[in-house]
Amino acid sequence: MTTAQYPDTKLLINNQWVDAADGKTLDVLNPATGEVIGRVACAGTRDLDRALEAAQKGFDAWRKIPAFERAAMMRRAAALLRERAEDIAHILTLEQGKPLAEARGETLAGANIIDWFADEGMRVYGRIVPSRNPAAHQMALKEPVGPVAAFTPWNFPINQVVRKIGAALAAGCSFLCKAAEETPASPAALIQAFVDAGVPAGVVGLVYGNPAEISNYLIPHPVIRKVTFTGSTVVGKQLAALAGAHMKRVTMELGGHAPVIVAEDADVALAVKVSAASKFRNAGQVCISPTRFLVHRSLVKEFTQAFVQHAESLKLGDGLVEGTTMGPLANPRRLTAMAKVVDDARQRGAEILTGGKRVGEHGNFFAPTVVTRIETDADLFNNEPFGPIAGIRAFDRLDEAVNEANRLSYGLAAYAFTTSFKNVQYLSDEVQAGMLWINQPASPSAELPFGGIKDSGYGTEGGHEAIEAHLNTKAVSVVGV
Ligand code: NAD
Repeated sequence: MTTAQYPDTKLLINNQWVDAADGKTLDVLNPATGEVIGRVACAGTRDLDRALEAAQKGFDAWRKIPAFERAAMMRRAAALLRERAEDIAHILTLEQGKPLAEARGETLAGANIIDWFADEGMRVYGRIVPSRNPAAHQMALKEPVGPVAAFTPWNFPINQVVRKIGAALAAGCSFLCKAAEETPASPAALIQAFVDAGVPAGVVGLVYGNPAEISNYLIPHPVIRKVTFTGSTVVGKQLAALAGAHMKRVTMELGGHAPVIVAEDADVALAVKVSAASKFRNAGQVCISPTRFLVHRSLVKEFTQAFVQHAESLKLGDGLVEGTTMGPLANPRRLTAMAKVVDDARQRGAEILTGGKRVGEHGNFFAPTVVTRIETDADLFNNEPFGPIAGIRAFDRLDEAVNEANRLSYGLAAYAFTTSFKNVQYLSDEVQAGMLWINQPASPSAELPFGGIKDSGYGTEGGHEAIEAHLNTKAVSVVGV
């Protein structure tokens, strides 16, 4: 149990928590009640200039610290996160809405991710390249790219920052983050763990404010050498274009519209258990959330009935209340978006088997929703719903399901259920996605690449590739010594 009060959040510059120079703040709301629970400082350009200066200073110090010592500090931060997990989870639920157990899981998983990156940072090797000239010694050296500007969203306030900070710090970069204004206090608690673990001033920084103003200022700034963003495809394309204009390295983790293919030979009970639980986790506000359910016609009735049963068994409520299994949506924008998706489906003749509407008048609660007889031109089957809505369609041949899976410009996560090795091979070859999970929920561990293709972005936030994305390669050739 925790007695943690929801804190106001300041800006972290030079290892000091400070108000914005002009004193500006934004309100933070509890999505379960709609009440103001705190404030977050809102940075202007004077604050950003100080944060950038600190990030440069932090980089100059951090890159010179041996990887072993950097790893020890990162592991200390992870240990502090574990120690503080109960308080942090409480704060996360207050500002984001997800059930406390999910918030606790996110915080503890964050500590594991930091540990993995800490260790992997010790394995940043260059290589010796045999030379054509017997008198020359040739090397490929790896160096940290420089200060990183990170932009993270509100759906996983800890996890989204953790993946980025883990890779950046492990590579020897400093890290200046603009986290989401709607959920500022839990990322602040995460960053505090790094400060308490002893990272030099400027290695980590945290700002909030107007997202477009901050990204427009930070991305072109000469101090920043790498940009990493998680959020919608629309915004990601704008930021990638800006980064491109200034020749900055980029990682983009954007929207998805994950297909779930349930093949004729699938274990239906498993498919429902796994995919329904995944669908409603974090009220569906997950970039890898399963969204387009493509079920073999022979199984679709059984699948749909069991799916509806699962949706109706969920306990919607305040994430802090014992027994809640689905919280509110994170902000009122999502309620409007959900209502629009449902109306569109209904108008096109789809059947809403359960849910489909807001619940109560306070807080952003939307009922777990299952839609069938959905046409492929419906909004639900084209634009990322980012909410607790599942659309189910039947297919006759596996290649039809694959064509539907690949029809959209997204290519983040995909799921499949089958008991045949032949299907596994076929789906692994043909499904266009950055991640394919077969007979299981997504389990994106730190050591596995995490990222999308097509309009879902580029780069990965897991595995050694995530560190590589923060490194320059320098060729050095030496003769005469
Ligand atoms: P949005 O596109 O306005 O914002 C998404 C995120 O990007 C927010 O954290 C926001 O602060 C940030 N952002 C927006 N404009 C920015 C800019 N110019 N510079 C820097 N950051 C900027 O949408 P929203 O209403 O907050 O969220 C809805 C949509 O965003 C969803 O439909 C989903 O597609 C996407 N989203 C994706 C993820 C993910 O994990 N990939 C997370 C949250 C939201």
